Formats: sequence, C-alpha cells, structure tokens
Amino acid sequence: MGLSKTIWTNPSEFIRSNQPENPVLFMSPAVLQATARRFLDGFPGLVTYAVKSNPEEVVVENLAAAGIRGFDVASPVEIRLIKRLCPEAAMHYNNPVRSRSEIAMAVENGVVSYSVDSASELEKLIELVPARGTEITVRFKLPVDGAAYNFGAKFGATVELATVLLKRVAEAGFIPSLTFHPGTQCTDPHAWEHYIRAAGRIAEGAHVRIARLNVGGGFPSYRKSAEQPKLEAIFALIDRVTGETFGDDRPALVCEPGRGLVADAFTVACPVKAVRDGVHVFLNDGVYGSLFELPITGMIDRLAVVTPEGVVRETATKDFIIFGPTCDSIDRLPGDVALPADIAEGDCLLFAGVGAYSTVTNTRFNGFGDLSMATVLSLKV
Ligand SMILES: *Cc1c(COP(=O)(O)O)cnc(C)c1O
Repeated sequence: MGLSKTIWTNPSEFIRSNQPENPVLFMSPAVLQATARRFLDGFPGLVTYAVKSNPEEVVVENLAAAGIRGFDVASPVEIRLIKRLCPEAAMHYNNPVRSRSEIAMAVENGVVSYSVDSASELEKLIELVPARGTEITVRFKLPVDGAAYNFGAKFGATVELATVLLKRVAEAGFIPSLTFHPGTQCTDPHAWEHYIRAAGRIAEGAHVRIARLNVGGGFPSYRKSAEQPKLEAIFALIDRVTGETFGDDRPALVCEPGRGLVADAFTVACPVKAVRDGVHVFLNDGVYGSLFELPITGMIDRLAVVTPEGVVRETATKDFIIFGPTCDSIDRLPGDVALPADIAEGDCLLFAGVGAYSTVTNTRFNGFGDLSMATVLSLKV
C-alpha cells in the first residue's frame, strides 16, 4: 500500500484534486495521537496497542510518538515489526496458542509476557520459556453480552479452569496475571465490571495474588452518529471496581485496545462505479476489501457522499442497497442504507471510523482492493 507524502486539508480536497478510481483510506495523525493521549491520560494503568487491528507502520509510529510503550502481538511477524519500530517497547504475546518455533522466536526476541487459556499450551510454555521474570497471564471468559462480536467463542478458559491454570503458573515460578477480552466494540461498561469481579474470584480460588490484570481490548469507537463512545466512564468504572474487588491486593492494570485506538483516525472513500436502476449502489470497495467487518459488526451511519468536485451532497435521503465490486453475492453491505437520493456514478461514499480491521483484511479478490492511503489534517469532509 503506497502512502502519499502530501498532507491534504481533508478528504474532499483530495477527491476534488484526484478524482480517485480506487478506494482511498484517509488517515489523520492528529486524531490518532489525540486518541492515544485520551487513553494514556484516562486509563488507570499501562496502555498497550493490539497490533493486529491495524499494523501499518505509520500507525505504530504515531502511537509510539504519542507515548504508547507496549504492544499486544500475536505472531512472529508482529513481534519483528514492533522490534524494528519500537525496540524499547514491551511486547505481550497474547495469542494463547503458539507453535514451539513461535515460542522460541519470542523468547529470542525478549518477550517476557505470554497469555494462555489451556493446560496443554501452559505446559508448552513452562517447558520452553525461562520462568524468572516472565509473566504468564491466564485468559478467561464469561458468558456476557455487550459487544458487537463474541471473542469468547474461540479463546478464554472457564472460571474453573482459569483457577487451576493460575495456580499452576504461580507454582511453576512465573509471574501470575489474569486477562480477558469483553468482545470488540463493547459499549456496555458493565461487561468490564463482571469480568473484573470474576478475576477476583479466580485469584481468591487459586490463593494467588495476581501481579497484573489486563482488561483487554473491546473499547468502542464512534460508529453511530448518535452514540459517542464513553471511554472515560469505562476507565472510571474499571478503576473503581478493581479497587473494590482486590483492596490491598490491587493488581497493576493493563489494557490492549485495537479498535478504540485506531478506528476513528481513518475514513475510507469508496468511488461509486454505478447506480444500477436507481436502487443498487455499486462501490469500488466492499466486504472483500476494507469494509470486511461491516456484515459482522453491523452497519455504521457516519457516512457522507462527495461529488467529484469535492462537494458534500446534502439532499434528502432514500434507501439503497450497497454492493461491493466483486462478482460474489455476499459482497453486499448489511441492510438498506439511507443515502442522498441524488448519489451518482463518480461520487465517493465515505465511511468514517474505519481504521480497525480494514487495511489488514483487504484482499485482492477478483482483482479489486487497490487501496491507497492519504494523510489529512482533518477528517471532516
Ligand atoms: C484483537 C485483540 C485485541 C483488540 O481488540 P479490540 O476489540 O480491537 O480492542 C486485544 N487483545 C487481544 C488478545 C486480541 O486478540
């Protein structure tokens, strides 16, 4: 993916000057760094970044410049990326299933924090990772709602198993910690409350004083115009409930947002290839491109239609069905979407808040997906 060196005022200035044929992802470093500072100022513990949500170098560099000093990594490629860009940063290898060669690679690269959710993977770590000074974080899950997508379907031990694992971690001489992920785009602060109280029960049941509690990612981004994410309320609740639950044994807190840090720093502009018979809008980007997650996490309504002259269409809306460019019939965005009734071929449809799980999931299926990036001062179209 090429990064244009020009800094544009905003997306409409770029569209007016370039009239793009292919999707363009606009990034605002100012928004990214401001979001990072919002987490660093507000979260009562260490803020790390879940690299998988957007591993573009320019993202990692801006987060580091804003003061992020820790990264959740899930693979050797992500470990090498962080080692190269931020050699001093802490790396938390929080993919709970790893091959032996991946573990060896992590040890060689100085990783001293690993998460685990099963007895078999824990025994592998005990065998391959030197215990002294190394943290093993037991990941657990609860059946709670509140998120757009259930992460617990794949990872996380039950409370009962987590208790056994935590005990084993401590007995084997590792630094014992706990972690969970409430599910991505979790707008209900009480999801964290349930998890933190369960962490207290696990530590108590195992008779282990945990060093750290990693409260995961899941922090929401701004997806619906009527629903601003309430990050500060979530931070305050995490702080209060941790104090109430652990008292004098309060662990240090860690968070590892992906979406919450990067999503709102990006807007994607998708050229309209055709408006078929006034009802179907065909975009040059779709679910095989940077809009991959919309059918999973739900449609957003922070949309704008910009003409090739860079003018925002303000006419009354009507419902359209939106398709992506490939010949696959699942390449359709969810639901009926309200767009200005005079949307036309050659316009761009802009989706705000798409910085997470968009560059990484972009495929070249059917020869589409020629996504480029442009830097803007402001994302206000
Ligand atoms: C993906 C992931 C995250 C980031 O999740 P978001 O919902 O994007 O904040 C954090 N931690 C782990 C272990 C993950 O796998």
